[in-house]
Amino acid sequence: MKEKKYAIIGKPLSHSLSPLMHSYWYKKYNIKAKYEAIEIEKNEIENVIEKIRKKEIEGINITLPYKQIIIQHLDKIINDAKVTHSVNTVYLDNEGVLIGENTDVYGVQAAYLNKINLQKKYDSALILGAGGVAPSIIHALIKSNLRKISITNRTYEKSIFLKKKFPIIKIIKWEDFHKTILDFGLIINATSLGMKNSDQFDDLFENINEKATYIDTIYNPLETQMIKHLKQKNIKTFNGLDMLIYQGQKSFYVWNKINPEVNDELVNLLKDKIK
Ligand code: NAP
Repeated sequence: MKEKKYAIIGKPLSHSLSPLMHSYWYKKYNIKAKYEAIEIEKNEIENVIEKIRKKEIEGINITLPYKQIIIQHLDKIINDAKVTHSVNTVYLDNEGVLIGENTDVYGVQAAYLNKINLQKKYDSALILGAGGVAPSIIHALIKSNLRKISITNRTYEKSIFLKKKFPIIKIIKWEDFHKTILDFGLIINATSLGMKNSDQFDDLFENINEKATYIDTIYNPLETQMIKHLKQKNIKTFNGLDMLIYQGQKSFYVWNKINPEVNDELVNLLKDKIK
């Protein structure tokens, strides 16, 4: 049987964990397939799309900065991709229609929201950031029936843009969010603050509610400065690794109709790569 080909496209991609994760699952389920990272410029997207149409590539994941721009190359976007206008998984269906799907929303739900008894414990969430991943987080919170969602972003206009898509959200100015942080039971960092060599922002969290839960979408480093700081205050924290794993799990399902197992072996494999 011919080896199937899958890939992740984006730029930069040198640190992507997706090839390791999907290759682990293909091996585990005895599927003859190769999953690679293809770092491309914007003007090369159409070449990759053509390869999917010709079935030279079975499916792709899309990451920064192409999750929105990919849409113009597709025939149809479905489900969560339609709401978020953000596509991270592409495949050709049985009728030859090129489909874009979003599995980040599922990633957020499965990694965090389904685990923290959202309705009982939290009635309000604050999202830091209004970039590419923010629509998926907002939509995951709405799907999980949380209704009080606030957003704060360094560039105010991007928050306005998100509010047009999700009128339910309340905007808080970046300069002001530290004053209201006590009001939030759930705080999600969807900025790149906390990644290696980025600025720190611990001081903005001085008044955090001691019962709050903090989710960082960052997985490199696994323990950001902010997570370290909040752990010292006994705040419950999550890092971004599970979100990455669960969006990958759903992409794998979309392509193979197998729900691959998330086990310690896989988690440790990925953690070792991050170290
Ligand atoms: P993006 O579109 O480039 O957005 C970056 C966000 O970070 C923007 O809101 C930006 O604010 C903010 N930001 C950057 N530098 C800042 C600074 N010095 N001060 C304040 N805000 C700053 O990126 P993205 O795709 O949304 O990704 C955002 C984060 O989510 C990243 O850390 C990424 O690792 C993480 N992520 C994780 C997963 C996962 O599976 N775990 C998946 C996707 C993304 P401005 O609008 O003002 O520039």
